[in-house]
Order: sequence, then structure tokens, then C-alpha cells
Amino acid sequence: MSAESTPTSQADCLFCRIVAGEIPATIVHETPNTTAFRDIDPQAPTHVLVVPKRHVPTLAELADVSPEELAEVVRAAGEVARMEGLERGYRAVYNTGPDAQQSVFHAHVHVVGGRPMTWPPG
Ligand code: IMP
Repeated sequence: MSAESTPTSQADCLFCRIVAGEIPATIVHETPNTTAFRDIDPQAPTHVLVVPKRHVPTLAELADVSPEELAEVVRAAGEVARMEGLERGYRAVYNTGPDAQQSVFHAHVHVVGGRPMTWPPG
């Protein structure tokens, strides 16, 4: 799949609609190719989702289509962690596919922190 053939937005995608401002969300950070907003069902004091503005179902696919935009997502996650004061650390999670409980098929990184994390994840 090339960047040229990838639709950048999908009308029926929840996160595309948040990126477009059609569905309200608490936006905490933005770069030219990423948007970050608070998760509606936070699992920790900080729980922010960083999404590419381009519609791709998974981060692995974003790596194929645009490694630069994937790097921008990872950098944005670090900036969100710094802005949220997570100097003691944070968990960056990307669930991929049904076994991993991915529920929204627009790529996203969960930035979770503000409490000690456990390992292994469930
Ligand atoms: P996934 O299960 O890894 O795909 O993560 C999807 C995340 O999106 C979940 O943590 C949901 O709580 C979150 N979510 C679903 N709908 C909304 C919304 O409208 N605003 C913000 N977060 C949402």
C-alpha cells in the first residue's frame, strides 16, 4: 500500500471524526500529523490516546505507509508524557487485533501513567 493510495480519512471511523472535530474530545496535544486526546474510559490518572491523522487500522500498517508519521506518533507520545508530568515513567501500549482487545481500528497509542504499573499485562 502506498501513501498515495491510502484514504486519509474514513467517514464511519470514530477517531477520524474526533480528528476532524466532528465528535467532541479533550484534545491535549497536536502536531501536523497527530492528535492526542483523553481516553473516554481512563485506566489510570493519565490515559491519553495519540492517533495519526491519517486513517490506518494499525500502527504496523502506518509503519509501512509512512515511517515518518509513525515516528511523529511516538514523539508525540513522549511529549504528552512530559506535559502530563510522567517523569517516573509511563506505559505506551498499542493493541493490535482482536486477541489484544483492539476495539477501534484506527491506529492509536495509549499513553498510560500516573500510577505504578504491573507486569505482565492481562
Ligand atoms: P483499543 O481497545 O486499544 O482499540 O482502544 C480504544 C480506546 O478508545 C479505549 O480505551 C476506549 O476507552 C477509547 N474510546 C472509545 N471511544 C472513545 C471516545 O469517544 N473518546 C475517547 N476515547 C474513546
